[in-house]
Amino acid sequence: MTSRSYLDFNATAPTRPEVIDAVAEAMREGGNASSVHADGRAARARVEKARQHVADLVGAEAAGVIFTGSGTEANNQALRSDKIERIIVSVIEHESVLQARADAVICPVTPEGLVDLDALSQLLGESDASTMVSIMLANNETGIIQPVAEAARLSHDAGALFHCDAVQAAGKIPVDMKALGVDSLALSAHKIGGPQGVGALICSDPSTMPRFVHGGGQESGLRAGTENVPGIVGYGVAAESALAGLEYFGALAALRDDLEERVLAIEPTAQIFGKELDRLPNTSKFATKGLTSDVQVMGLDLDGASISAGSACSAGRVETPYVLAAMGVPDELGLCAVRISLGWTTTAKDIDGFIAGWQKLHDRKLARN
Ligand code: PLP
Repeated sequence: MTSRSYLDFNATAPTRPEVIDAVAEAMREGGNASSVHADGRAARARVEKARQHVADLVGAEAAGVIFTGSGTEANNQALRSDKIERIIVSVIEHESVLQARADAVICPVTPEGLVDLDALSQLLGESDASTMVSIMLANNETGIIQPVAEAARLSHDAGALFHCDAVQAAGKIPVDMKALGVDSLALSAHKIGGPQGVGALICSDPSTMPRFVHGGGQESGLRAGTENVPGIVGYGVAAESALAGLEYFGALAALRDDLEERVLAIEPTAQIFGKELDRLPNTSKFATKGLTSDVQVMGLDLDGASISAGSACSAGRVETPYVLAAMGVPDELGLCAVRISLGWTTTAKDIDGFIAGWQKLHDRKLARN
């Protein structure tokens, strides 16, 4: 992957070198974090250190962190509680929220891609704690940052609970769970350079969260199964690095903006989604009529750049990505959308390489017409 330009950080981030070292060391050390002997206690100490780092990343209490097997599992644990009778989710949520319950009530977004708060108010009506609202902090496809604090306030005022999928936001922008005022937050390690297959559900009051995976008493009885100590240790290191690197990550917006300006210079009709809104600094989603997503993804792949048409979960589908469809983007544009997502390995050279490859595809399109 080193000689290629990896521009698909929102699908997964390359594992940070310090994470690889920490995971390898934890694997060498071994130990079951539930064992009472010295080896077990050492593993427990490593898990608790990681718990603190993950809590720090989002301004939460370590006691509220439940380690899970993925961001998907964290969303499912929050939303599939027996105590919740009704859930309201935005139409642009990740599949792990949209598919968590078949009876979810869907809240629309505005044509700009922001959750429609008036519609949310209407859907909430008079609710109580058996209703849960779930809205993501940053959209995985467009990077658009959602009005979560306001949505959480509206939900609480109506008596409902509020869950937030912060999988794409944490580690890319500052996230403060208390300032957002949410009841729970889902996170994932691999989006910030941690190992794949590790996530966290952060609860403001874990005593209200029912267990999801049944069995032993791990994770305060809320997530059974021997803890993935190496994975959790790697997550802790990734969270620590991501928090320390937030400013650097924010500066990626300059590279992203440069990429967009150069795309627009080549093709002034290119449409950039969410350009005027608060977006993740690393994400660009744009479309050019007549240059289909698959032609761009495959053409750039052959040229040595990894980009995507949309979320990795929906790769291979021949339809407008549902996030863009929900914004009212017509198929002629939606089928031509690509997502470029940068990260700490990205340099100006990667952007130059992308633009050179994209210019070739664009020239070929002009030659065809
Ligand atoms: N939520 C969002 C917004 C995501 O982008 C993803 C992954 O793409 C997930 C949840 C799922 O996380 P995981 O891959 O850890 O299951």
